[in-house]
Amino acid sequence: MHKHHSTRELASPQVGSAIGIALSSRPAQPVTLVRPHAAARAARFFAEKFPGRSMYAVKANPSADLLQILWDNGITHYDVASIAEVRLVARTLPEATLCFMHPVKAEEAIAEAYFTHGVRVFSLDSLEELSKVMRATNDATDLTLCVRLRVSSEHSKLSLASKFGAAPGETKELLFAARQAADALGICFHVGSQAMTPEAYAQAMERVRAAIVDAGVTVDVVDVGGGFPSSYPGMEPPPLERYFATIHRAFESLPISYSAELWAEPGRALCAEYSSIIVRVEKRRGDELYINDGAYGALFDAAHIGWRFPVTLLREPDSNARDMAFSFYGPTCDDMDHMAGPFMLPADVQAGDYIEIGMLGAYGAAMRTAFNGFGSDETVIVDDEPMVSLYLDDEADAVPSNVVTL
Ligand SMILES: *Cc1c(COP(=O)(O)O)cnc(C)c1O
Repeated sequence: MHKHHSTRELASPQVGSAIGIALSSRPAQPVTLVRPHAAARAARFFAEKFPGRSMYAVKANPSADLLQILWDNGITHYDVASIAEVRLVARTLPEATLCFMHPVKAEEAIAEAYFTHGVRVFSLDSLEELSKVMRATNDATDLTLCVRLRVSSEHSKLSLASKFGAAPGETKELLFAARQAADALGICFHVGSQAMTPEAYAQAMERVRAAIVDAGVTVDVVDVGGGFPSSYPGMEPPPLERYFATIHRAFESLPISYSAELWAEPGRALCAEYSSIIVRVEKRRGDELYINDGAYGALFDAAHIGWRFPVTLLREPDSNARDMAFSFYGPTCDDMDHMAGPFMLPADVQAGDYIEIGMLGAYGAAMRTAFNGFGSDETVIVDDEPMVSLYLDDEADAVPSNVVTL
C-alpha cells in the first residue's frame, strides 16, 4: 500500500523533481512543490471508488489550481464553510455545486450564498440555525438541510467532537423541524480528522440509525463527512477501500429509502499528497536543526499539535550515515516555532543541506502566514512522486520512469 520514495531511487537528479530543484537552484527561501498528478489521482480514486458522492472540503487547501485539478478529475461538489470559500469556488468553478456545511453561519453569508451563488445545501445543528437559514432564504422551499449530529472522535488524531453537532437529546426535535422546512433532509457528522480505523464511521452510522428511528423521519441524504486519512510517519492507516466498504455496508442497512444518497466530504485525503516544501538547514545544534520554514509557515501542525511529516535529505551523492532523530526550529524569533518531530534524517545533516518535508497539501499550505517576515510564495510544479502515497498501487502506470523498482 505505502511506497516510500527516497533520493536513492532516483537514477539522476532531474528538474521536475524535489532533488532537482534543490540541487539546481539552491533556493535561499522555502519552496512549495505541487504535484498535480497526485491530486488528480486522489480525486479519481474518490470519484470512482467511494460508493456515493465525494465533495471536496475546501478548507483543507483552497488553492484555485487544486480546485481545478479536482474538478477535471471528477469532483463536482464542494463543501464550503465561509462566504469567502463560496465566492472562491463560484468564481473558480462556475458549474460546481456548493454545499455550505458549516453549522454556524452568518445570516448575510447564507443570503448571499443562496441568492447570488445558487447554494441550496446547508448544514445546521440547532433550531436557532434552522430559523436563521429559513429567514435568510425567505423561507425557501428548495433547500437540502443537513442536520449535523455530534459523534465521537475517539478513533481520530484530531478531534472535532466538542464544537459542533446536535447531542442525542436534541436530535429528534431538530430532525422533525428540519424535515418540515426542507425539500430534502440530510444527516451529517464528522468523525474527526485522520480517522485511523473504518470503525469510526461504523460507530457514527449507528448514531445516525438511532436518530432516524427515534425521530421517525424520512431521510434523503446521509453525509459521512471528512476524516479520511492520509499516511504520515507513525500514522499509517488501513487502505481507503476498507473505509469505503464499511461505510457502504452501514449505509445499506440504514432505515432509509432506496433513493437516499450517500455523500462524503474528504479534505485531507484529497490534497495531502498534492504538496510538500523544500527547506534549507541554516544551523545545526546537536540534534536540533534550524530550518527556514516553521510554525508560522507551512508547519503549523508540526509545531502546535506535534504532527509528524515524512522528511528526505536532498543531497547528491546520498549520505551513507545512519538515520537519527532530529527536531526542528523554524525561522522566527519565537520559542514556539519548534517542531518536536522526531524527524528521521541521516546523522550527518548540516547547515546548507536541503530537506523535503512531505504531505503538506492538507492544512499546511492553507495555514501559512508571513509572521516576522518569513515565508515565501515560490511554488514549483514537479512530476516526481510524493514521498508517500495511498493511491500509488491503484494505477500501475502511475510509477514514473525515473523510479527504479528494486
Ligand atoms: C474540516 C471538515 C472536513 C474535512 O475534514 P478532513 O478530515 O480534512 O477530511 C469535512 N467536513 C467538515 C464539515 C469539516 O469541518
